[in-house]
Formats: sequence, structure tokens, C-alpha cells
Amino acid sequence: MVFPNNIAEMFSLLEKESVNGYVVGGAVRDIVMGKEPTDFDMAAECLPEDLLRIFAECRCFDHSIRFGTLNVVTDDGIVEITCCRRETGYTDLRRPDSVEFCKDIKKDLCRRDFTVNAMAMDSQGNIIDIFDGMGDIERRIIRTVGKADVRFSEDALRIMRALRFASTLGFEIEEDTKKAIHKNIHLLKNISSERIYEELTKLIMGDCAAEVLLEYSDVICEIIPELSPCVGFEQNNPHHIYTVYEHIARSVGACPKDKIIRLCMLFHDIAKPLMYTEDEKGIGHFKGHPEKSTDMARDILTRLHADSETVKLVCRLIKYHDTRPSATRKSLIKYLSKVGFEDAKLLLDVRRADLSAQSPAYHDQFEYLNESERIITSLETEGVCISVSDLAIGGGDIIEMGVPAGPRVGDILKELLKRVISGSLENDRASLIKALRGIIE
Ligand code: ATP
Ligand code: MG
Repeated sequence: MVFPNNIAEMFSLLEKESVNGYVVGGAVRDIVMGKEPTDFDMAAECLPEDLLRIFAECRCFDHSIRFGTLNVVTDDGIVEITCCRRETGYTDLRRPDSVEFCKDIKKDLCRRDFTVNAMAMDSQGNIIDIFDGMGDIERRIIRTVGKADVRFSEDALRIMRALRFASTLGFEIEEDTKKAIHKNIHLLKNISSERIYEELTKLIMGDCAAEVLLEYSDVICEIIPELSPCVGFEQNNPHHIYTVYEHIARSVGACPKDKIIRLCMLFHDIAKPLMYTEDEKGIGHFKGHPEKSTDMARDILTRLHADSETVKLVCRLIKYHDTRPSATRKSLIKYLSKVGFEDAKLLLDVRRADLSAQSPAYHDQFEYLNESERIITSLETEGVCISVSDLAIGGGDIIEMGVPAGPRVGDILKELLKRVISGSLENDRASLIKALRGIIE
């Protein structure tokens, strides 16, 4: 096994002091699966003071050293190295009451969540696999280390982690593990929103996000109760063949793996059950659902402690997800003046995902989205005017023509922009100045 230089270096520092070190967790799983690990975690059969001594010459963060963890800054990023430990008692159902350092990798592996995450690899590439993690990788199964019921009641975040790995690895969750998940859902209440949000965002980024969202709707509705009314909610509309929740789940799976877009899909129709009306023909409508979904998404994401940039962007996309300008220059210019080029491009992905989770009878609409995309691209290349700052004159020109500095200047610019966007005025200096004279007089 050839480890990256920084890991080989850490192994050799440990060996100099005759301490056994191991690569553990996700990196071993990735190596066994033939994938390049994205990050390496290590474990060492020693005590915290030994770690501090062995890595004394390295730049380190030692804020978690009382739990036996040291973060070593290497040329290839930060590597977390932890002393082998056992954990006992989870009275708060979140964190162990105490950790006990044990200098024994096998005992350390017992505290880990799933068999596929509970393997260690030494510096020679030998794998320590006491729970048949290799077998479970081959069978493509997520199974807890030890009794599932006990492990989820110790730390309910593991429920979200099971779903996350099922989604990202495309593995099935083993039967007992699955039963224990459904049984212990209520314990998720004990977990901080930050940790839930972190696992949720990883879950929705997986290849199998749609399948997991569908199979574990009870878990998802425990952390986002506002989704409950969507489950089983029939849309009674020719555009739709799925219930609201099923449509949501499928649309998450149908879009590019971009956190913002996938979060947008997760919440884009969440208000539909609240806004449902039926016309005299019995057809369902959801007027106003984009605005209401935007408000709900803002509340939910804020409660989950999503960063404010994410909240803002996701909400902007939800608000416009159902706005459908025709594929003409004129109507797209008007649309772009509202959403801007950046969001317009993201909204194309959103609308494609939305469409793919609707009735195939309307899939000819993809062509209209493709045409819209072509027009948007050429409008951007042309540098078409969509905001006041794109006008060929500025506030200074208006003041020079005798309008006193103040809000009126802005109002005049907006009026000029409106005319340019509607096509009744050209965006060149001469035409603008001429129109300006008319407005001032
Ligand atoms: P990724 O590829 O996303 O980093 P990972 O398996 O490395 O996946 P991490 O969240 O980085 O996941 O955790 C590292 C390792 O720590 C896991 O593989 C697992 O062995 C252990 N672990 C993490 N969280 C828990 C938990 N809540 N309970 C038990 N073991 C855990
Ligand atoms: Mg990791």
C-alpha cells in the first residue's frame, strides 16, 4: 500500500517511538472500494501525552487532546489522529460520559458506527477487520457494529449517518439495522441541529438520495416535520403522476450534485399541501406555493443553522422555481432583470429537475428549457442591459442635466431601464439622453 507522503511521514514518526499507528474509518473503506480517499483519519495505540511528544515538531491543533485527538497540519491538509479509546455510558444520548484510552486498535474499532467504517490499516497495508466490513462492502450493506438498537440509542446521529452512507455509497441498510432506525427515530430530538444539517446535506448529495428519501420518509419528517403533510399528498393535476413528497424526493435525485440546488429541490414544493385548491373540474392547483415554500425553507434552514449565504440563495431559487418565461428574447430579458444571470443559470437546473419528476407527458418542455438556455447564453455574451448599472448613462449624467441629487435620480434611472427592457428604448447614450429630456420636462 502506498500512502500519500504526509501519511507515510506520520507513520514513520509513530514508528520511531515504537507506537503502532493505523489509518481508520472512511479512508480504509474508500481504499477497499478502490476509491481514492478524500481525507485520512488515523488512530494510534498510545496516550495523549505520547501524541503531543511524537508530533511536537509539527504544527498541530490540540484543542481536543483531552479526548485523545490531535489535528496535525501537513502539506496535504489537516490529519486527525486519535488515541485508541473506548467510550462508556451515553446518558445524554449524544456523547459518551467518559472516554478511556486503551492502546488497543481492536477495542477502538468497537466504538465505531458501521462495519464498513470500522476497519483499520497499518503502515504495511494490512487490514484489521474484526466485524467483516470487507464482506459488507462486497454485499453492499450498511450494518451497525454490535446491536443496532443499542448503538442508535447511544447516539441517534448514527441514524442520519446510516442514511447518508446508504445514499452516498448506494448500499442497502441491513434488516436489523433498518428496524432499529425506524424504532429509534424519536431519539433524533436529542441531536443538535448543526450535526443533523451536516449529515442531511451529505445525504442529499448522494447518488441514491431519491431512493433513501423515499424509503426513510419517517426519518426525514422527524427532522423536518413540515414535510409530513407532503407524504401521500395527491396532486390531482395532469402535470403530476407522483404525490408531493415523491415528487420532491425524485427531483432531489434528478438534479446536479450541487448543495444549493439539491436543498432548493428538497424544499421547493413543501408548502403545496397548505396552498391546495381544487377547481370545479376537480383539478388541483397550488397558487402561491413558491412564496410560501420560500418562507418555510427560510425558517427550516435557519433552525438547522445553515449558513446565511446558503439560506439566501436557496430561498431566491425556490421563489422563482415555478416562474416560466417564454423562450423569447423579450420575455427572458424581463426575467433576467428580476433574477440576474447567475440565478437564471441555476434556475435552469432547478426547472429541469422539477420537470423530470413530473408526468412524462410534459417532457417536451425540456426542449423549451434548452431553447431558453441558448437565448440566455447569447444575451449574456451580448452584454444585454438588465440592470440600472448596465445603462449607457449614470446618475451623474442626470444630475448634470439639472436634476438635484436625491431619490428622484434613482427613480429616473429605473424608468429608463424599464423602457430599455420593454424594447421601446435603445440602450445608447444619445437615445437615453433624448428620453431623459422628455422625462425631466
Ligand atoms: P467521509 O468519507 O465522509 O469522511 P467517514 O466514514 O470518514 O466518511 P467521518 O464522519 O469522517 O466519516 O467519521 C470518521 C470515522 O469515525 C467513521 O468512519 C467512523 O468510524 C467514526 N465515527 C464518526 N462518527 C461516528 C459516530 N457518531 N458514532 C460512531 N463512530 C463514528
Ligand atoms: Mg472522514
